[in-house]
Amino acid sequence: MDDLYHWIDGKRAKGGSDRFADVMNPATGEVQARVPLASAQEIGAAIASAARAQVGWAATNPQRRARVMMTFGQLINQHMDELGELVSREHGKTLPDGRGDVQRGLEVIEVCMGAPSHLKGEFTDDGGPGIDLYSMRQPLGVVAGITPFNFPAMIPLWKMGPALVSGNAMILKPSERCPSTALRLAELLQEAGLPDGVLQVVNGDKEAVDAILDDDTIQAVGFVGSTPIAQYIYGRACSNGKRAQCFGGAKNHMIVMPDADLDKAADALVGAGFGAAGERCMAISVAVPVGKKTADALVEKLVPRIESLKIGPYTAGDDVDFGPVITRAAQDRINGLVDKGVDEGATLRVDGRGFRMQGYEDGFFVGASFFDDVTPEMEIYRQEIFGPVLCQVRADTYEDALKLTMDNPYGNGCAIFTADGDVARDFAHRVNVGMVGINFPIPVPLSYHTFGGWKKSAFGDLNQYGPDAFRFYTRTKTVTERWFSGIKDGAETAFRAMD
Ligand code: NAD
Repeated sequence: MDDLYHWIDGKRAKGGSDRFADVMNPATGEVQARVPLASAQEIGAAIASAARAQVGWAATNPQRRARVMMTFGQLINQHMDELGELVSREHGKTLPDGRGDVQRGLEVIEVCMGAPSHLKGEFTDDGGPGIDLYSMRQPLGVVAGITPFNFPAMIPLWKMGPALVSGNAMILKPSERCPSTALRLAELLQEAGLPDGVLQVVNGDKEAVDAILDDDTIQAVGFVGSTPIAQYIYGRACSNGKRAQCFGGAKNHMIVMPDADLDKAADALVGAGFGAAGERCMAISVAVPVGKKTADALVEKLVPRIESLKIGPYTAGDDVDFGPVITRAAQDRINGLVDKGVDEGATLRVDGRGFRMQGYEDGFFVGASFFDDVTPEMEIYRQEIFGPVLCQVRADTYEDALKLTMDNPYGNGCAIFTADGDVARDFAHRVNVGMVGINFPIPVPLSYHTFGGWKKSAFGDLNQYGPDAFRFYTRTKTVTERWFSGIKDGAETAFRAMD
């Protein structure tokens, strides 16, 4: 069995705390590696060293920093299959989905290649007699990224790309359940030219996170994970005077109007509800058909599609629809919630309980379940199940469906399927959710827009990636200046680079 490591000062570093967590193979239920859990002292040392490295990195001009991202992007492309496999091996998602995880992270690195245009400042010429003003964007110093298990490549890349290219050093604490991809990405960044110490990947659990949150050198914390932890981290980081943006869980609704193309809507619900075994913060977990006729027809379309989903380990080929969930505890929790839904009176139209994957009986596989007649008081509606379970809540009218979506405490993503542009437009304007799909089930914005939920799905301001990320990872300094003489003596004839 492998013992994993931290990535400190450009090298693999053995854990020094004598505490480890098991990294499981979700398909077999076996332990495949141990990951060291950093102590507060190890975190402190990693931060101190990052602070020293950050000085030279911040003084490196933005264009050169962007060139590191260009080479990094090339390396990610070259290693796409390897990275995708690394994701799938620890997470359990299918190989095409593992590569998709890397790809959606790479797209943010591509935007970082053009970072100088986001980092340039503002200038006011002649704000007063002989007075000019300019504002510059300066890096914050050492920042931290704390990331979840479900996108082991994408979310670390969303964090490290904008933070590093803006001139910061970063302490990245990936999920202890899927740590290897972040460690490999750090090696590739070094190969791309990132100076040692500018990215430190420190593995750990609550002890490591708390040490990050309490360290005075850390200027900003970017977190992604479940809502209770997001709220906790936001509170502790803010009370320690740090900038914080903490993205949490979700319960994403998809309204299906009577005029929608129901085959397309059913395909969308199955893809968005069961892809990655429902372990996506943008998974659709609640279908909201409007009117009894739509609901009954949707059930007819959904049941055969859900029953024919192919479940398997990532090694079983590209036609597998989804793999196991992340841990035995997650498997038990999801099955328990399905039991609860039955007890509470929802109609279980497809029952995934008791699913056994032949040859992988000890794996964390969960069959696909589909509940109809779910009501907002039920536990299966109130909790983020984060598993292959779709709930259908029937609505009488569009206004009822909209109200249901808006009353839900989460506000990450939502969607509407309709042929009516007026309804779609009304929905997009009124709904209190951060990312909206119109005939589009998982509306994760492209990397040059920004990603972020509302309500209990995000704490703090500014979104992830896109222009907001460069604002989050820099601060503005504004200079007001007055000069009494003009240009310097002597001609400069060479056409030189600024750097
Ligand atoms: P999690 O909250 O359990 O863990 C996230 C990170 O927090 C990990 O690095 C973990 O080590 C750390 N952590 C866990 N418990 C902690 C504690 N008590 N104190 C300090 N740190 C702690 O989340 P997860 O299970 O890894 O990920 C799944 C969750 O993430 C889901 O709720 C999902 O919706 C959410 N998510 C949200 C987004 C988004 O952008 N909104 C994206 C992906 C996932």
